[in-house]
Amino acid sequence: RKRIAIMTSGGDSPGMNGVVRACVRMAIHMGCDALCVYEGYEGLVRGGDYIRQMEWHDVRGWLSEGGTLIGTARCMAFFERAGRLKAAKNMVLNGIDALIICGGDGSLTGADRFREEWPSLLQELVATGELKPAQVEPYQHLNLVGLVGSIDNDLSGTDATIGCYSALSRVCEMVDYIEATATSHSRAFVIEVMGRHCGWLALMGGVATGADSIFIPEKPKRDDWREEMRALVEKHRKSGKRKTIVIIAEGAQDRHGHKITPEMVKDLLADKNGLALDTRITTLGHVQRGGTAVAYDRMLATLQGVEAVRAVLEATPETKTSFIAITENKIARKPLMEAVQETKSIAKAIEAQEFEKAMTMRDTEFYD
Ligand code: ADP
Repeated sequence: RKRIAIMTSGGDSPGMNGVVRACVRMAIHMGCDALCVYEGYEGLVRGGDYIRQMEWHDVRGWLSEGGTLIGTARCMAFFERAGRLKAAKNMVLNGIDALIICGGDGSLTGADRFREEWPSLLQELVATGELKPAQVEPYQHLNLVGLVGSIDNDLSGTDATIGCYSALSRVCEMVDYIEATATSHSRAFVIEVMGRHCGWLALMGGVATGADSIFIPEKPKRDDWREEMRALVEKHRKSGKRKTIVIIAEGAQDRHGHKITPEMVKDLLADKNGLALDTRITTLGHVQRGGTAVAYDRMLATLQGVEAVRAVLEATPETKTSFIAITENKIARKPLMEAVQETKSIAKAIEAQEFEKAMTMRDTEFYD
């Protein structure tokens, strides 16, 4: 009887509970034991009560719960080999044949590293007498599959990450609320949304709410953005618009790599010698992560969770570590490391102000 463990890691995202529910139930349906590792890699390193067997009814109602009920964490110990040794030992002691990890690119990078090191971790555990050769014998290959849970929609190789549409919906709702008061007082609002390297939330939030202007990291505005914005807002105001909404991603910058802050945009809109608008800044912050998952994320979590269990059951020692993507509306298995590498390359290109390169790699016509 195979034992499949499920874990959520890194930043939480709506839909993670749907993933856990789908994996637990699919594993049981396929005649396997389902386990949950609580608190991400921290639970794997600590073992004991952090690793628990789950039954069908344990995940009842989880589709409509926000966040992740099995907890998530950022785990420093897992960055060190000593931490990964402990994690490997706990996997063997719990008889875990396969691990499904739902997290962002950091968690998935950690996962790939763990798998690569796996044979040497087992060797060391035997050499130091922590485990007996017979104990490690059945676990020569680490069978691991990733699922992308992230509100940023920042992983290459998949059209949508689990949680991004919930966060986008929340952004839309919040902007709608702000618009009502903005219109009443004829005010301007600069709204900061999450996204350090990826402007998807800001861009789609702006499109979905009809924002006057949007700032994202991977496509900075022209150097004369101030003049351009002043003229645009002036035009909108002259045509009778009583509100001004600017959406800015956390990682917004100019073409030279200098950060553009909400305060800078506010200063422009409020300039007494210019537009002179009564301007406020709203940072949406963690409300973007909160609340329940929208239908799309529940669907994605369920279909991808089922596929992840299939993937671990069909894996052979030769199978590359994969993650579950959605591409052109099809659930697909893809090589994990390629996607993680490309995601990192995009972040690097943005940092190096190689914006065209970053845009090409983003691989979405939405950004044009
Ligand atoms: P996310 O998965 O949301 O991108 P993080 O980048 O914080 O979140 O990663 C979550 C956890 O994954 C880290 O706290 C750490 O335990 C593990 N991790 C991330 N990168 C690595 C790495 N290069 N090597 C080992 N573990 C890693």
